[in-house]
Amino acid sequence: MSQRSVDIAVVGAGPCGLAVGAAATSADLRTVLFDRGPLCSSIVGYPSYMSFFSTPENLEIENLPFVTEGRNPSRKEALAYYRGVARYFDLDVRQYQEVEAVTKIGAEFELRTRTQSGELERWTAESVVVATGGFAEPNYLGVPGEDLPKVSHYYKEAHPYWNQDVLVVGGGNSAVEAALDLFRVGARVTVVHFGADFDPGVKAWILPDIQNRIKNREVAVRWRCRVAEIHPRTAILRSENGGAIDEIPNDWVLALTGWRPDPVLLRSMGIEVDDETGIPVHDPLTMETPISGVFVAGVLVAGIDANKVFIENGKLHGRKIVERFVETR
Ligand SMILES: Cc1cc2nc3c(=O)[nH]c(=O)nc-3n(C[C@H](O)[C@H](O)[C@H](O)COP(=O)(O)OP(=O)(O)OC[C@H]3O[C@@H](n4cnc5c(N)ncnc54)[C@H](O)[C@@H]3O)c2cc1C
Repeated sequence: MSQRSVDIAVVGAGPCGLAVGAAATSADLRTVLFDRGPLCSSIVGYPSYMSFFSTPENLEIENLPFVTEGRNPSRKEALAYYRGVARYFDLDVRQYQEVEAVTKIGAEFELRTRTQSGELERWTAESVVVATGGFAEPNYLGVPGEDLPKVSHYYKEAHPYWNQDVLVVGGGNSAVEAALDLFRVGARVTVVHFGADFDPGVKAWILPDIQNRIKNREVAVRWRCRVAEIHPRTAILRSENGGAIDEIPNDWVLALTGWRPDPVLLRSMGIEVDDETGIPVHDPLTMETPISGVFVAGVLVAGIDANKVFIENGKLHGRKIVERFVETR
């Protein structure tokens, strides 16, 4: 067991955790960031060929220029940029090191962490920032057959689905972008959504594309419908209007139904997380929780509605936190 001590420990090295780290090292604070996966592991999990809807300057951290070839950065460009942020601000990022517990001991916090090789490491910090993101667990369908290998809550790329019957579950950006991608590689796509139309947050520049595919019967859609059961070669759909059942041929189910944050670490630290919204109790002006010295940052603070906080605004939490830390220490 080894002991290390810092001013600020950040749990989660996604873009918003990095923004905390960059603001903290810019204020000459001793800082460490932990991530249970690689740096920005949520972005690593995004579709391989996705592009961000933000323009690069809106994804910049602490004004470090983000230059890209096109108008919207690719996933690869964003990962390269965030590695650059870590290098430029000389951030101590402990990758593949999970924070398992945080305990207040006297005026400090003790973090129990586990490295990739299974070793326990204890760190102490004057302050802890929890920036663990919003992608801890998918919103499960909760239907028989969801555990079949043909079902996934991740979408990486379209090629493996060429000439296959694919059911895309959901009505948001991820579902629409996947459905268009899949159609373009020659998959037979059916979109199923409990709503009567796509979510209002679907990007304006992709909506006409999917609407035309549906109009041309190139992509099938089942509005006001839910998946009732999944079988090895079929899927059973149930209409929300009257409950009519329909069984369709199916090879793959992509359940792109959104994700939710993990409240366990916060609750174990004594921080209340609203059951309904998933929002942790905090002061939005300082990002401080009711436990002095514990802060929250990034998409985590939006709870289950990840559309409210994203990189563009979540990155601003970093400076607020460092200002508050310096002001009150
Ligand atoms: C397809 C797609 C496109 C998007 N496009 C945009 C866009 O154009 N513009 C924009 O602003 N936003 C966009 N977003 C949203 C954006 O990616 C997220 O809002 C952003 O990743 C949030 O950053 P974060 O640092 O708060 O959380 P995350 O990026 O989720 O990072 C949290 C990190 O915490 C780590 N972690 C969790 N628990 C622990 C633990 N106990 N110990 C150690 N580490 C832990 C995780 O491994 C993860 O790396 C997009 C999202 C998706 C899915």
